[in-house]
Amino acid sequence: MSHIDINALIKNYGGLEVIHGINAHIEEGEFAVLVGPSGCGKSTLLRMIAGLEEITGGEISIGGRVVNDLLPKERNIAMVFQNYALYPHMTVAENMGFSLRLKKVSKDEIARAVNRAADILGLGELLERTPGQLSGGQRQRVAMGRAIVRDPAVFLFDEPLSNLDAKLRVKMRAEIKTLHQKLKTTIVYVTHDQIEAMTMADKIIVLEGGHISQVGSPLELYDHPANRFVATFIGSPS
Ligand code: ADP
Ligand code: MG
Repeated sequence: MSHIDINALIKNYGGLEVIHGINAHIEEGEFAVLVGPSGCGKSTLLRMIAGLEEITGGEISIGGRVVNDLLPKERNIAMVFQNYALYPHMTVAENMGFSLRLKKVSKDEIARAVNRAADILGLGELLERTPGQLSGGQRQRVAMGRAIVRDPAVFLFDEPLSNLDAKLRVKMRAEIKTLHQKLKTTIVYVTHDQIEAMTMADKIIVLEGGHISQVGSPLELYDHPANRFVATFIGSPS
């Protein structure tokens, strides 16, 4: 069970409210894209789901369980960032297995999890390389591998492709979609790129200045934008 419920969620930074009482539901196995302009609160919301940012008010549940007071590692989630910060002195295999090593998982089990992730991502040939010997796309794949080995119920992505060139971005979009089809996990994917949102999402959540302005499928938002902001952002003619 890994549906996500967000109820009356508020975030203050030093007395300044940046998330203004958000309600949202993300179904188990859904690919939800959180989209909106820079500064609208996407990362803040994602980091609250991850447990990396304290919740000022309201509630987040994952799989029906309130997680407000749970540590990140207790939430059965994995997060992939835009600057994927691989350990430069470790091999690809070591990078992917590191979080399991911290959890004192046995060597055999780590090897199994790393090989499974490498299979899913086509990294089998690269396991003994270091990050410096990889292309940008390969490094991004290793960052996803690190998340996959932990076998989380929920993946959180924060603009994972924004450091890649346009051509590679298109390719990685397809790879992440394939990954979702294989793993069938719940995904919350943050982007400010409307094309990414339109091509990847089951459900788009449009965030505007700390409010949700619309939730719907790409087609629904395109055909029936709730307001001019959504229409302009999604690029539909009305
Ligand atoms: P986005 O990811 O959509 O670009 P953020 O969630 O990073 O937006 O930021 C939302 C708002 O919260 C912005 O106004 C930003 O300046 C502010 N903010 C984000 N992080 C902090 C922080 N650690 N301290 C104070 N303000 C912050
Ligand atoms: Mg952000």
